[in-house]
Amino acid sequence: MKDGIHPNYGPTKIICACGAEFETGSTKKDLHVEICAKCHPFYTGRQKLVDTGGRVDKFKKKFGIK
Ligand SMILES: [Zn+2]
Repeated sequence: MKDGIHPNYGPTKIICACGAEFETGSTKKDLHVEICAKCHPFYTGRQKLVDTGGRVDKFKKKFGIK
């Protein structure tokens, strides 16, 4: 690549509304996002499963996970 095509490309810190921070590369700096892998509904949903306790054990038995 020639210099000048991506003049502003460099390390960027992505900051999520939940407080999580990720290092990445981008032409933008200090990206602020509303949601990330840590607070995505899919993950928070799993967190709720963990919180209910017994349901996780049933899940593990169902799939043979010890
Ligand atoms: Zn987040």
